Amino acid sequence: MTFIDTHTHLFLEQFDTDREETINRAIAVGVEKMLLPNIDNTTLRNMFDLCDKFPKNCFPMVGLHPCSVNKDFKGHLNTIKTALQNNKKRCVAVGEIGIDLYWDKTFVEEQKIVFQEQIIWAKEFSLPIVIHVREAFDEVFDVVDKLNDNNLCGVFHCFTGNAEQAKHILSYGNFYFGIGGVVSYKKSTLPEVIADIPLNRILLETDSPYLAPSPHRGKRNESSFLVHIAERLVNIYDIHFDDLAKITTDNAKKLFFTNKR
Ligand SMILES: [Zn+2]
Repeated sequence: MTFIDTHTHLFLEQFDTDREETINRAIAVGVEKMLLPNIDNTTLRNMFDLCDKFPKNCFPMVGLHPCSVNKDFKGHLNTIKTALQNNKKRCVAVGEIGIDLYWDKTFVEEQKIVFQEQIIWAKEFSLPIVIHVREAFDEVFDVVDKLNDNNLCGVFHCFTGNAEQAKHILSYGNFYFGIGGVVSYKKSTLPEVIADIPLNRILLETDSPYLAPSPHRGKRNESSFLVHIAERLVNIYDIHFDDLAKITTDNAKKLFFTNKR
């Protein structure tokens, strides 16, 4: 039984003192692969270094996060695109990309342009996209509605939307739902929404070091905690633990490791 943590920022400073131990803890509980979404030009180096150190376990994604977009986005995008071009064989996705209007709405137009541009790269390189959306489903849907086609695929990372938004995503055809720690929180309405999403559309993710699942809520999250998210989904889907592991791992393999490139 193995798992894939499809979204984990183990290259960030929160892991500076125990990064290798953290990865080994994850491997010990069956989290064999960890997919690392880049943030911006300041994180590329550490992200790739970690993938070099654990080539069988850690896999890079290259993208520009919406919270790092400002008026100087053009040069920033060039740096990110060069990194993608130079590493296209080993990158498993373009990510993370998207729109975030929770923290700051100042650069909403720039965020839209940057998101759109990176979707075009994903098509060019035949890579899936990893979408971050916060308080911006309408804006994200506007962009994806325009660009979606048979070749576009990806995941709505840390999905916490409602039933209607879930339906919209299912209608795209080739998109998955990244489910993380939020599903384990007491007041979360997510369990009801995802009960209507077929299990073959579900991916597991921690989003470490953020959003630790119960019983670790409020602490630093890490990839070994993926099993707590899996346990919660076992209840929701009323399925055996091993079957849940197999189906979600197969989903992740299909999206990120099918050789289309
Ligand atoms: Zn993230």
